[in-house]
Amino acid sequence: MANTSIAQEVGKRRTFAIISHPDAGKTTITEKVLLFGHLLQKAGTVKGKKSGQFATSDWMQMEKERGISVTTSVMQFPYNDCLVNLLDTPGHADFSEDTYRTLTAVDSCLMVIDGAKGVEERTIKLMEVARLRDTPILTFMNKMDRDIRDPVDLLDEVESVLNIACAPISWPIGSGKEFKGVYHILRDEVILYKSGLGHTIQDVNIIKGINNPELDKRIGSFAAQLREEMELVKGASHEFDQELFLKGELTPVFFGTALGNFGVDHMLDGLVEWAPVPQPRATENGIVAADNPNFSGFVFKIQANMDPKHRDRVAFFRIVSGKYEKGMKVRHVRTGKDILISQALTFVAGDREHLDEAFPGDIIGIHNHGTIKIGDTFSQGDSIQFTGIPNFAPELFRRIRLRDPLKQKQLLKGLVQLSEEGAVQVFRPLDTNDLIVGAVGVLQFDVVVSRLKFEYNVDAIYENINVATARWVYSNDGKALDEFTNKASQNLALDGGDNLTYIAPTMVNLNLAMERYPKIKFHKTREH
Ligand code: GDP
Repeated sequence: MANTSIAQEVGKRRTFAIISHPDAGKTTITEKVLLFGHLLQKAGTVKGKKSGQFATSDWMQMEKERGISVTTSVMQFPYNDCLVNLLDTPGHADFSEDTYRTLTAVDSCLMVIDGAKGVEERTIKLMEVARLRDTPILTFMNKMDRDIRDPVDLLDEVESVLNIACAPISWPIGSGKEFKGVYHILRDEVILYKSGLGHTIQDVNIIKGINNPELDKRIGSFAAQLREEMELVKGASHEFDQELFLKGELTPVFFGTALGNFGVDHMLDGLVEWAPVPQPRATENGIVAADNPNFSGFVFKIQANMDPKHRDRVAFFRIVSGKYEKGMKVRHVRTGKDILISQALTFVAGDREHLDEAFPGDIIGIHNHGTIKIGDTFSQGDSIQFTGIPNFAPELFRRIRLRDPLKQKQLLKGLVQLSEEGAVQVFRPLDTNDLIVGAVGVLQFDVVVSRLKFEYNVDAIYENINVATARWVYSNDGKALDEFTNKASQNLALDGGDNLTYIAPTMVNLNLAMERYPKIKFHKTREH
């Protein structure tokens, strides 16, 4: 049964993330978006690489030193009649698992491309991830105030490399020092650019109609050039098609400069007009629609110690359906316990704020003392379990050892908690007392040692270990599983959640084991 007031709130919301290659301009565009949004609520930090508002916890120092963003932040702001939720994603490849899970919590993505460089390697990877779920993609071609590549070439490259059709919504007039502005194709108007106003919301300078003689007066020969180019572009490119956009097969493309705060508003207009409202999500027993009156949602990220004054952990929770109300009771499905969520968090200007109500598409923070894991569902009513929030088998492994052997218990506790957060994966071999840490990207190892030190007060070091890959193992046949567990115990371990895992020294070894034990399933991903 749908609920009209919830449906109204759902209709207002757009939840998206920005994906881009480092340095394409994600941070800058985030800052401008927030300027337009007169920032309502903000979780974490924008990134702070340059904005100097980093602060928060010790291990973030590492991000600062290396100029990379490890964490995901959440920001909510109003735009036109909508409420927009923007989730930041780590730009660095070593945190791609984190990015994947963040993308499960959004309904659309903005792809930012550096107009001088075109499609770069991280863009390709992130698009692969976004398209695993056919997420609708908007595109912003950035840095028009620099000498960019031919815009037609840029679109061709996006189409051929990323395999998505491009529908230009705006078109640049000149670039670099000669950047004059953009022609908004759908509105048939030219918006003129003025440099040096990037930190403000500018008065817009519009000339209606591409054939308006005023245009020739203002931009001289660029006007005739634009008319010629548009003939060509209209013939060679796709028209915007809402249905194809929603299927993730076509992307509307906007040109502008984030630094000059020009064109960002056109993108935002497109986002609120076309991007999907909070979408249904799949559970083990069917789909849950956003306007379902029963509150439900899932945890896609856990973040520790965002503020040293509160040394606890916050679970980031995407609301799928219903309405959050302060003090409501919901079922924590994995544990079967009903809990009171009395203090859901949002973060205003760096301070924690408590929230009275929230709706589908919104992200709320729930205090967590170690009982909540990534992938957990909370629901009112039925015991449903949302699917599709995976762990990926790690590709890099190290043995972790203490400098002070007396702190073994602390080390284990730290590692298990960090693995629940998704910061790293931990494996305890059945036959030895080793602790093996598995990661998808090498920087995760550094983050873990630094956090173990600051948060758990243990001094740990790594040693190399001969492990090529890991697989989670299952079987419906209890007897076969017992036999396998006995015979292959030297290769078996338990992960942070006590799931049985096969640790293979080589790929050949893994293949042999799979041949030898046909009743055992070896999985590369594990649903939380
Ligand atoms: P991120 O790594 O994707 O978050 O990129 P940043 O937003 O940090 O931008 C990387 C660099 O490009 C910074 O020095 C920005 O000032 C610069 N930048 C971003 N947008 C523009 C733009 O539109 N024009 C120019 N000229 N520089 C830009």
